[in-house]
Amino acid sequence: MNQFIVRTHSRFEMIDITASVRAILKERKIQSGLCCVFVPHTTAAVTINENADPDVPADILAGLDKLIPLNDNYRHMEGNSAAHIKASLMGASEVVLVDNGELVLGTWQSLFFCEFDGPRTRKVYVKFT
Ligand code: ZN
Repeated sequence: MNQFIVRTHSRFEMIDITASVRAILKERKIQSGLCCVFVPHTTAAVTINENADPDVPADILAGLDKLIPLNDNYRHMEGNSAAHIKASLMGASEVVLVDNGELVLGTWQSLFFCEFDGPRTRKVYVKFT
């Protein structure tokens, strides 16, 4: 299994991690298969969305914040329930096809690490099958 570190800089953030995943793929010289990207955290997630306009991830974060307010009489004592809910909604993993040694992503698609309770130092696991 491969892993890399993501350092986040604010409470909510979406960071394009496609280049890091692609670098592992090139290093491993895998031509065909599946690439699983997994985030081993309960207040962070991974998703695939548009990389061309930085307003898209900004709007995703703003939309999630509207749906799931920071404070809403949650029971969890740590005070970060909104982050836990967002992490579950977005999900802890993505699977991307690998063909001809490349990740099969649409023209405007990137893999984004989603931070919902930063800033923190986070891990991302990558496994090819
Ligand atoms: Zn918590």
